[in-house]
Amino acid sequence: MAPGQRIEVVTIGTELLLGFTVDTNGAFLGQRLAEAGIEIVRRTAVGDAPAAIRAAIDEALSRTGVVLTTGGLGPTRDDMSKVVVADLLGLPLEFRSEAWEMVLARYRRFGRTPVESNRSQAMVPVGATWLPNHWGTAPGLWVETPRGLVIMLPGMPLEMRMLMEQEVVPRLAARHSGTVVRSRTLRTCGVPESTLAERIGDAEDAIAPLSLAYLPSTSGVDLRITAWHLAADEADRRLDSATAALRARCGDSVYGTDSVDLAAIVLDQLRGTGDTLAVAESCTGGLLGGRITSIPGASAVFLGGAICYADDVKATTLGVDRALIEQHGAVSAAVAAAMATGALDRFGASVAVSITGIAGPSGGSEEKPVGLIWFGLARRGSVSTHRSVFGGNRDEIRARAVQGALLALWRRLDRSAGA
Ligand code: AMP
Ligand code: MG
Repeated sequence: MAPGQRIEVVTIGTELLLGFTVDTNGAFLGQRLAEAGIEIVRRTAVGDAPAAIRAAIDEALSRTGVVLTTGGLGPTRDDMSKVVVADLLGLPLEFRSEAWEMVLARYRRFGRTPVESNRSQAMVPVGATWLPNHWGTAPGLWVETPRGLVIMLPGMPLEMRMLMEQEVVPRLAARHSGTVVRSRTLRTCGVPESTLAERIGDAEDAIAPLSLAYLPSTSGVDLRITAWHLAADEADRRLDSATAALRARCGDSVYGTDSVDLAAIVLDQLRGTGDTLAVAESCTGGLLGGRITSIPGASAVFLGGAICYADDVKATTLGVDRALIEQHGAVSAAVAAAMATGALDRFGASVAVSITGIAGPSGGSEEKPVGLIWFGLARRGSVSTHRSVFGGNRDEIRARAVQGALLALWRRLDRSAGA
């Protein structure tokens, strides 16, 4: 196995430390570099402080010899990354007229006049290559020195991404051995992480040297399988067989691979059987309808839904018998069933799903704890109910309830399609 190229990423900007800006550049670089076969071994975020920027780049260079930075290339006083790197590497900054021409051309295009401070964007460390930025004014920098390689990109996410694609990835690819770091994700739902791990058992050893990560979220547990530093076809071959092995262990908890959404799978199933769908939501307040309508083409299947938060609205809008609510409470199997059949009738759908539950943080009891959700699933002539208790805060419970409704639909439809 050829040793892969290793890199460290330093994202620069005080806004990242204060949490006003989420470090999406770091996330993008993690995925994009791995795809290109380059392993990120460490990511550091630092503020716009010369000493911190200098130390982060210096240490990263000592460890891996290749560092990629984002941020701090603009013309304002808080943009100091370039000066710091030039100083660290002992390279004076020089004015490059071609880089300046590009800045000027951009200003002309927008009918604006550059100010004096913009000239700093055409300053480049001696011997470095500047990477043309067609999406903004700060060029990227490629600085090869005996100490290693420093790649500097602007912080604006679009500019950073475009420069990565067009300038950085091709240059890095030419520098290394042609291996890839490639991942595949099995998406599971309805089975807790520890139960999944038990089912997978020794299959995890059998897929070595591929690695397996358990990634739980409100949509279930994702199983990410990663092949490190292999030739692309070898990585694909091993990922295929590892995916098949894990799928066999996880059985019907796997609803798809990679970035697939369970809502899209359910819509496909319903489209395939010629069904139409309606929803009735209480504690999720429209989140289920939102998830469904975020899938392009949902209109072929989804008719609509009712948000019935108050008991009165459950009765008036969906025809839920008030006596049922009084007798069993709004969060009950009986009301979930009545909501689902009500939605089925009122919307004229062939399948309807309902959600009623206690999202908290208050309002729970011993019998009906916070996180309790009742689901109803109605088809012409039949209705079933299903109970779950979810953990987490209010938002997480609601997100899990939405996924739970989709899971109920998926399982139920899957079974009836197979029957
Ligand atoms: P800069 O190049 O440092 O002037 O950054 C320009 C803008 O890009 C900042 O105001 C942020 O909104 C955004 N930005 C900078 N760094 C990041 C990052 N790591 N992730 C996401 N956005 C960023
Ligand atoms: Mg900045």
